[in-house]
Amino acid sequence: MKVCVACNGSGYYDNIGKNGKSVKCESCEGSGKERLEFKEQVLEFKITDESLIMKMSLESLEFLFNASPDNFNGKSQLAKIKDGKHQEFAEFVVRFLMDYKDADSSNVNWSVPFERAFQEILEGAEDEIVDYFNY
Ligand SMILES: [Zn+2]
Repeated sequence: MKVCVACNGSGYYDNIGKNGKSVKCESCEGSGKERLEFKEQVLEFKITDESLIMKMSLESLEFLFNASPDNFNGKSQLAKIKDGKHQEFAEFVVRFLMDYKDADSSNVNWSVPFERAFQEILEGAEDEIVDYFNY
């Protein structure tokens, strides 16, 4: 994890606040580490020391369904989620993501974008991230 550039890792700003105490760094919320949160899209990402956290509100999931090209016949929306069925809709999507891509595959649907990212890393020879074995 990278050091916060705003406070240089201290978690506090150099200046002293009105109460005589050091001012907590807003950029890293006092952790001293670069905050790795990506909230500019409907699927939000957060990277901690141990986890990759992905979060989407049910409202956003439904927004994606409503805006899907498959949900349009050219001029009108074809379908909407029934009232009271919002969690069942989300459950359906999650079960699909966890499902196997095909019968003779051990890959699940959610693995697809990860595999694409791994390909990008390997094909792009991202030397800053990856050490290649020399056989
Ligand atoms: Zn900071």
